[in-house]
Amino acid sequence: MRYQYKHPEWFENMEIPDFNEMSGTILIYGAGLQGALAKFLFDKMKIDILGFCDSDQTRWGTLFMGKNIYSPRETKVQFPDAAILVTPYNHEPAYQFVKNTLGFDRVYTCASLFMEFDGTGFEELYHPDWYRQETLSFYIDRYMRKLANFYDGEKEKQKYALDIAVTERCTLRCKNCTSLMPYYKNPVDSDWNDVKVSLDKLLPYRNFEYITIEGGEIFLWQPLPLLLEYLAQCPTVESVYPITNGTILPNKDMLAALRHEKFTVRLSDYGEHSTKIEQLKRLLENHKIKYTVALQKWRRFSHMTKEPRTGKALQAVVDDCCKCYGKGVAYFQSGTLYRCPFQANIENLGILSKTFADSIDLMSDHGLDLQKRIDDYLMHPSITNVCQYCYGRGYTNEEVPVAEQLQTGEVAVMVRED
Ligand code: SF4
Ligand code: SF4
Repeated sequence: MRYQYKHPEWFENMEIPDFNEMSGTILIYGAGLQGALAKFLFDKMKIDILGFCDSDQTRWGTLFMGKNIYSPRETKVQFPDAAILVTPYNHEPAYQFVKNTLGFDRVYTCASLFMEFDGTGFEELYHPDWYRQETLSFYIDRYMRKLANFYDGEKEKQKYALDIAVTERCTLRCKNCTSLMPYYKNPVDSDWNDVKVSLDKLLPYRNFEYITIEGGEIFLWQPLPLLLEYLAQCPTVESVYPITNGTILPNKDMLAALRHEKFTVRLSDYGEHSTKIEQLKRLLENHKIKYTVALQKWRRFSHMTKEPRTGKALQAVVDDCCKCYGKGVAYFQSGTLYRCPFQANIENLGILSKTFADSIDLMSDHGLDLQKRIDDYLMHPSITNVCQYCYGRGYTNEEVPVAEQLQTGEVAVMVRED
C-alpha cells in the first residue's frame, strides 16, 4: 500500500534529516506502531539502526523488530552521540524528554519519513491481524496531525480534531472502558437537538481534519443518521470515523447515511466479544461503505487515586497518557467540550464535581468571546483537575485483555489503594 499525507503544506517548516548519512548511528525512541514503521522503512532504505529505546521497563532487554530495546538511561550511557528518532504518539513530551532530560543533541521526528511511503509488506511484518490499509492510514494521519502542530503553531487552526460521544448505552461492559460506560446505572442517549445546538457553535468556525463518533455503542443511538447528514454537509469537516464495537448491525437509515465519501466506519475488533463483526463487514461492503478495523491493545485503566497527585508525578502520568489529547483535539459529550473521555465521564457521573476552567459548556454558553475561548481551549491544553486523580491510560501501564467483560453483578472498581 502507498501512503501520502494529505497536508504536506502544513510542513513547510519541517527539517529534512539525511537518514542515509546517519545509518548505523540511529536509535528509535518508542517501540510501538510508529517505531515499527520507521524501522520497516529504514530497512527498505538499507539504513541500519542501533536499536530501540522505550520507557516501558517490562520491555527492556527484549527484541522488537529484531533489535534490542534499551532503557532511556542505558541508551544515554551506551550511545551518547546517537541520532534519536522520536516516534511516540504523545510526541511533544517524548521529544522534550529525549532532548532536555536525556540531553541528546541530534533529535528528529518522523515527519519527513512518513510524509509519503510504500508500506507494502508492513502489515505482514508487524501484525497481520491488526492492519488494513485504511487502518494504517488512520493511525499515521492522526500522528502526522500531531507533528504538524509541533512544527507550525501558526497554522494551527487548520488542524483540529474532535471525538463526539452520543450515548452512554453500550452492548458491552468492558472492565477497562475509557469512557466508563459500565459505571452508568441509568445510561441515557444524547438529545439530537442539544448535540446540534452545541456543534453549531463549534464546527462552522474552524476546520476539522477528522471527527470520530463514539459511545457507548453508536448503533444504539437512533438519531445517528441526522448527525451523519449534518456532518456530511458541514464544509469545515474533512473526514468522519463512526466507531462501533461489532456487536450490533446498523438499520437501513444508518446504512444509507453512512454511505458518503467523508465517512469510514471504524470496527473495534474485540475478538470473541465482537460477535457480529464479520456480518457487519459484509453488510458494509454490500452497501459500498468504507470501513477500517482498529488496532486493539489495551492498557489498565479506570481507576483513581484517593489523594491528588502534583508536580512531577502528575506530569509523568499526563505525558504517558494516550487519552491526553494535546493541541487541537477535544472530546464532546452532553453539550460540553472536554480534554478527554475520562474527564467527561468522571464529571458526568458526579464522581468529581465539574471544574468550569477545565471544560467549555457549549449548550448554554452564549458569551461574546466564546469562539476565542474555544480556540484557546483547543490550542492550549492544560492538565485538568481530574488528571490529578487519574491513572490515565499510560503506554507503560500493565497490558490487560482486550475488552475484558465484567461478570454479571460485578462492579467496576473506581478507587484502588496505591
Ligand atoms: S464497547 Fe466496551 S470500551 Fe467500548 S464503549 Fe462499550 S464498554 Fe466501553
Ligand atoms: S484525566 Fe488526564 S490523565 Fe486521565 S485519561 Fe484524561 S488526560 Fe489522561
